[in-house]
Amino acid sequence: MRLRVLIPLLSVLLLPSGTASADPTPPVRDFGNGADRNEEAAGVAESKAKTLRELAPELSWHSDHGRGYPRRTTLPIPPENPADASIKLGLIPHHAIAAKLNQLQAVGDRVSAEVVGRSAGGRDMYLVTVTAPESAAETRRQEQLRRQIESGRAVQARKYKAPVFVNGNIHGNEWEGTDANLRVIEELATSTSPQTKNLLAHTRLYFNITANPDGRVLGQRPNGNGFDLNRDFVTASQPETRAMRQIMIDNQPVVMIDLHGYVNGTLVEPTTPPHGANYEYDLFIRNAYANALGIEQAILALGYTPEKDGTFPPQIPFRDSAEGWDDWPPIFTPQYAPFHGAVASHTIEFPMRVNGSDYTTQPVAELQRRSRINVDIASAAIRATYTFVQNNREKLVGDQVEMFRRGAAGEPSKQVPLGIVPGFGPEDVYNTTYPRAYAVPATGPSAARLVDHLIANDVKVDKAVLPFRAGGRTYPAGTYVVDMRQPKRGMANVMLEAGADISPRVDAMYDISGWSHGLLWGATADPITDRRFHVAAVPVSAASPTGSVPHGSGPLALKVDDAKAVRALNDLLGQGVAVTLAADGVAIVPASAREAARTAADRYGVPFTKATQASGTPLSSVRIAAAASADELFTLRELGFAVTPVSTAVLNAGFDWSGTDVLFVSSGLSYGALNLAARTAIEAFMARGGVVTRGGTGANFNAAAGLLTVTAVAGRGDANGVVTVSSTTGPVGTGSPAHSFVYSPRWFTALGPEVRVEQSYTAEGPLVAGHWRANADGTGGPEAARGQAAVVSGRDERGAAVVLFGTEPMFRNHPKGLFPQVARALFWTASSAKVLTP
Ligand SMILES: [Zn+2]
Repeated sequence: MRLRVLIPLLSVLLLPSGTASADPTPPVRDFGNGADRNEEAAGVAESKAKTLRELAPELSWHSDHGRGYPRRTTLPIPPENPADASIKLGLIPHHAIAAKLNQLQAVGDRVSAEVVGRSAGGRDMYLVTVTAPESAAETRRQEQLRRQIESGRAVQARKYKAPVFVNGNIHGNEWEGTDANLRVIEELATSTSPQTKNLLAHTRLYFNITANPDGRVLGQRPNGNGFDLNRDFVTASQPETRAMRQIMIDNQPVVMIDLHGYVNGTLVEPTTPPHGANYEYDLFIRNAYANALGIEQAILALGYTPEKDGTFPPQIPFRDSAEGWDDWPPIFTPQYAPFHGAVASHTIEFPMRVNGSDYTTQPVAELQRRSRINVDIASAAIRATYTFVQNNREKLVGDQVEMFRRGAAGEPSKQVPLGIVPGFGPEDVYNTTYPRAYAVPATGPSAARLVDHLIANDVKVDKAVLPFRAGGRTYPAGTYVVDMRQPKRGMANVMLEAGADISPRVDAMYDISGWSHGLLWGATADPITDRRFHVAAVPVSAASPTGSVPHGSGPLALKVDDAKAVRALNDLLGQGVAVTLAADGVAIVPASAREAARTAADRYGVPFTKATQASGTPLSSVRIAAAASADELFTLRELGFAVTPVSTAVLNAGFDWSGTDVLFVSSGLSYGALNLAARTAIEAFMARGGVVTRGGTGANFNAAAGLLTVTAVAGRGDANGVVTVSSTTGPVGTGSPAHSFVYSPRWFTALGPEVRVEQSYTAEGPLVAGHWRANADGTGGPEAARGQAAVVSGRDERGAAVVLFGTEPMFRNHPKGLFPQVARALFWTASSAKVLTP
């Protein structure tokens, strides 16, 4: 289920976000997120490939060239784990799935299974394809048609097998989607009915058996890294998300459903407003509403009743609620899938709660009764969905073609007619203005990261071969250009556009309301609005290399303005290189370490320049004790810092501070709840070490520990989005971007003389995109934050160097452009403290 309450819904459970964490294991397949690319020739090769593809599409099919269906794979069987949380519910444990799939592949010629990814905890993810057997030639033909559809060209839909995608168990403790998947696959594998034969002759059904194996085994919502995978689609920080993304890109489902629990009665999307402005919503809502009505009928036909079973009738938020269950941010699977062609997609929440406190307090027999009902309902939803596709195949494929066609033609955002389906009113109408293109200057690793991310999301990116002018500005050759006349322009725009302030239109939002990669990822993405814009450009398959070291023999400078630069800096420090920090925040690498700098330039794509001074303040590796959320721990480690998680309980049990330079506090640590020994120890630490805090927990810690003299003011708790900020030339503010991200924003007033403002919310705005209203009493709104300090620094009476963040610079590993600011805070607090106490 999702986290916040849709008021009219029954039995909605509030869950804390996950806290578990584990060291990530490299995924089996990584799909290019954050990869360092150094292929100079890639652009030319891709350009040739495109020409070939256009001339002779049959020459460039998939990597599975030469194979038909079924594709039987003997899946490796993991060791048995008697502690798998599924077992108590009478559901299949993760370790038993592979054997079951091996068996299902053997019963006939309809089932193909493969490992499509590996979870953060190292567990296999299984994709099952169920379809009628295909010769290699038929498979090639299908792929050719898929590409034709993706380019927005009409096909003879009756020759195309419509792809359907069922995603199971993305929240680990919402188990039953997996079991429903297996049940339906078995039915389809063994059925002798003509309807099934007809279905499989005209569709390909894809089942991601469990999208979250770690969570399934551990009985928790997030994956092994503590990430909610159903919030990760704009970021793709996790291997499971990247695997799901690739399933959608490769197979281009016309319809997808995402199986969750628990909302009673069963919740079936489409959603309430606001609706994402980058969808082709006229196509989407007709199909999504029709399928929802069919799913509803299929569930009702099961005969479960409130009186007999405790099971209430289904509810469709679009039809039954005014607000609170929206499809605004494409962070959820069904809200991401439409950009790859789904013309109907649904979150489905089956009704009978078996997680949370019910898991531990309900009798086993009762839990298993509930799970059986959930599996029945989820199975009915899957059957209704494939039947909907079977009955409407040509229309659905036609709508998918139309969606891609509008993108390729660069048509304006379409105004959806009121009443297109019953109840579709003015409150449902959301539109955007597509620019003609975006220009992304190739200015280093941030631009490369953005470009590689777009490409990984199947957005076409070109590179200008000559300088060009647009919007009164001249761009050099080599500038990346995202042409918005492309089939997946919705995906491109939903990432690159600023977004919108939707506070006036909606009372409450379900989750985040702003996320712009164009504003938060550290790169520039200028919209070009001139419709006549034209540029000589070639397609690229990866960003060009960005690492460099100048000739010569002197010391080198590295601007710490990107996450990659932080990583490189931490790598050099870890090797014992005597890196120092100049007053302007630039890291200086001694001439003796040029070889190490060259390696770092290659590995991380960071540009070194000639240093203008020989050395500055000595830097050393920063060792962090962090009372932080899982996403922050992940981000700090990704930046190359050594991080030890701590909490009130850990400190009260006795913590050895000798290996810590900086304490980071944002979650799970209360100064007032520390015992005497823990307080004595942390006081001794603060007399020599640094402190960085974030958010309400951090501000409370600052006040209780008597660090900086500030009053921390809380903005409205559910406010979130992209804000404009202005930075000073302090050690943290220097070089910060003009935008930041907030969730439950805070600002600091009544600053003591020891406090320096590093960054402020601007006097205009500050909300650019998102949802931020004042509280009922008028406090906590964006107007109150205007001009106020968002990030402050200072040294407290003990001598501890302290930085307080009122923003959310590491939220879900998303705002990449803000990570260097956190790194600067950590380096400054660590080194500043050490200088005082040698
Ligand atoms: Zn869920």
